[in-house]
Amino acid sequence: MDHSTLSHVSGSRHQEPSLKADPFAQLKLLDVQELDAKADQLRHQRANLPELAEIETLEGSRRSLFDQVRDARIVVDDLSAAQRKADADVEQVKTRRTRDRDRMDQGLITNPKDLERMQHELVSLERRISTLEDEELEVMEQLEDAQRLLDSLTSQLAAADERLALLVAGRDVRAGEIGADLAALQAERVPAVDGMPADLLALYEKLRANRRGVGAAELRQRRCTGCQLSIDNAEIEVIRKAPSDLVIRCEECSRILVRTGESGL
Ligand SMILES: [Zn+2]
Repeated sequence: MDHSTLSHVSGSRHQEPSLKADPFAQLKLLDVQELDAKADQLRHQRANLPELAEIETLEGSRRSLFDQVRDARIVVDDLSAAQRKADADVEQVKTRRTRDRDRMDQGLITNPKDLERMQHELVSLERRISTLEDEELEVMEQLEDAQRLLDSLTSQLAAADERLALLVAGRDVRAGEIGADLAALQAERVPAVDGMPADLLALYEKLRANRRGVGAAELRQRRCTGCQLSIDNAEIEVIRKAPSDLVIRCEECSRILVRTGESGL
């Protein structure tokens, strides 16, 4: 046997000692790979649930709505206070007008000069009442607008909360289902790796970690199913001659190449 060629196939060019493993263990590695690929797919699904993007967007607009509601409520509170004050101002001047009128009606003011002053004051009070009432009306209109805005924002916030609750519930149901599927896969994996040589499994895990989740691939019809490249004839010849317990590595992607009845050797 040509050892220099063999060590080339077995992967020593990757600065790793050539590995030997029972052919049955190598075949079982393909089962483990399949389970791990399914688990990766499920984890990917769970991390990319359609609800997640909408939840994120909605949480953003909810935060903005929450701030707008808070600001709108401050405006409503301020205008409510302004309205109460305007109301009190009008009442105060009206009380004074009533008092002056009563004094006049009761004939308490007899001095013509005092009477004239009182009449002047009444005219000025009327003007003051009219001005204050206009101001009060303006504040009331502003308050109505502010209240309408607050009501609208509040109902938008409630709708966002309702939608969010629905999405979160949907996400949780789906994540729960995926979690259960993952647990089932994990349970299947235990017997699949049972008795698997530790060095083979370690190499597989190391390759899986830095080769997009695929550490072991079937050699199928003279093609590496890991990188999908065809193995050239010379290399096929070397693989054909290699002992069945030698762990073969793909020349292109360096993944573990597992020989099966479909390898075309
Ligand atoms: Zn390959």
